[in-house]
Amino acid sequence: MNPFDLAGKVALVTGASSGLGAHMARTLARAGAKVAIAARRVDRLEALAAEIAAQDGRALPVALDVTDPHSVARAVEAAETELGALAICVNNAGIARKERIGDLDDPAWRETLATNLDGANLVARAALNAMRKHAHGGSLVNVASILGLRPSPRVPAYSAAKAALVSLTQSLALAEGPNGIRVNAIAPGYVETDLNSAFLRSPTGARMVERVALGRFGRPEDLDGALLLLASDAGRYITGTTLVVDGGHTLSFL
Ligand code: NDP
Repeated sequence: MNPFDLAGKVALVTGASSGLGAHMARTLARAGAKVAIAARRVDRLEALAAEIAAQDGRALPVALDVTDPHSVARAVEAAETELGALAICVNNAGIARKERIGDLDDPAWRETLATNLDGANLVARAALNAMRKHAHGGSLVNVASILGLRPSPRVPAYSAAKAALVSLTQSLALAEGPNGIRVNAIAPGYVETDLNSAFLRSPTGARMVERVALGRFGRPEDLDGALLLLASDAGRYITGTTLVVDGGHTLSFL
């Protein structure tokens, strides 16, 4: 038996309308999961669902705003009604805003925390409630960042939110272990997406890549191994961990 096999499992991926979330949805579908793909830009989700269907996969587009508790509840309900009992949730939706250092009244601070921390918590709670109800265990994978482990002076709100998400991952792992539900995080290094392509292509980005041990920024598919490990039975004794996937960037950060 292939321990990475996800045949018949139902997964929810937030932030699936672009970047890492869209890629992770494809990866889970290829491994056999039925995937609810959630975000605000539903037209993009519909295109992704059609692409996955063309490769004999199953994906359900679901409108979701992670900052709205009602929207989160509706998304989990829609996933379960259409696809079945939720077994995997990838808590991936996130934003990165230009930040003004040291100004806690900065709207970017509030927006970043509302999406990357409060939103992730709302999704985690709704998904875990559903998994607990079915009593078949489950796996929650939070998408953190190396910036949650090593802070950046450029994006303090983003770094703080991701650091808190790492801590939340550990608390939830402790709470849900007795229910057979595993909670882990992936901390990716820099992977070029809509979130950061302007920055990575800037002179600062060019200097930064020299500090990545493997000599390049990541590609979405570089996260496949970590995702499948944490989502599947192959990771059945792994909980509360944050798996760094950064090509060795944090070894020489700054
Ligand atoms: P993208 O900007 O490409 O994707 C972000 C996704 O989040 C989009 O699908 C967007 O969908 C969704 N999203 C944003 N706000 C909301 C919201 N309020 N409700 C629902 N969905 C929302 O970025 P990435 O793919 O790069 O980022 C994905 C995750 O990975 C983020 O959490 C990010 O912090 C993390 N990450 C990324 C790294 C990188 O180098 N790319 C490195 C480390 C971590 P829509 O606008 O349609 O709602």
